[in-house]
Amino acid sequence: MRTAIYPGSFDPLTNGHLDVIQRAAKLFDRVIVAVAENEDKSPLFSLEERKQLVRESVAHIPIVESDSFDGLLVNYVDRRGGHAILRGLRAVSDFEFEFQLALMNRKLNERVETIFMMPRDTYTFLSSRIVKEIARLGGDITSFVPANVARALMERVGTSTKKLSKGVDL
Ligand code: ADP
Repeated sequence: MRTAIYPGSFDPLTNGHLDVIQRAAKLFDRVIVAVAENEDKSPLFSLEERKQLVRESVAHIPIVESDSFDGLLVNYVDRRGGHAILRGLRAVSDFEFEFQLALMNRKLNERVETIFMMPRDTYTFLSSRIVKEIARLGGDITSFVPANVARALMERVGTSTKKLSKGVDL
C-alpha cells in the first residue's frame, strides 16, 4: 500500500491542487491531503473549513482522503505510514523554496521521499492567494476552483464586504 501525503495550507483548495491530486491518485494506492494549521499565515478559512472543502472536492476519488496536521510534517508522515511527500511545482519561482524544504525533510527523516508534480499548464498561474484576491475584487473565480469552493469563497468574501461596510471589525 503506497501512500502519498500532500501537505499544504489549501486556503482554499484550487483546481491546480486538484490536478496534482488526480495525477498522484494514478500513481499511489492512497493519497492523503494534509491541511496544515498555519495560523501565522492568517488563513481566510479555518482549519476545519479547509479540511471540509478538500473532503467535498475529492469525494469522487475514493483513494483520496482529507486530514489535518500540526507540528513537524515528517513526524505526521511517519504516523500515517506515508512513503512520499507530494508537492506541486508551478514555475521556477517555486523551485528554490521547495528544493530547500525537500532536502530539510530528508535530513529530518531519510526514509521519506519528496515527489514533485507539475499541473496542467493552464493551472501554472493559479494560487490560493490570487484566487482570494480575485474573489475579493468581485471577479469570476468559477474556472479556478471546484464549485463548492467557489460558493464558500463568495459567501466568505461577501460576508466580509458586508461587515466592512457596517464598520464591524474583521
Ligand atoms: P503552502 O502554504 O504549503 O505553499 P499551498 O496550499 O499554497 O500550501 O500549496 C500546497 C502545495 O501545492 C505546494 O507544493 C504548492 O507549490 C502546490 N500548488 C499550489 N498551487 C498549485 C497549482 N496551481 N498547481 C500545482 N501545484 C500547486
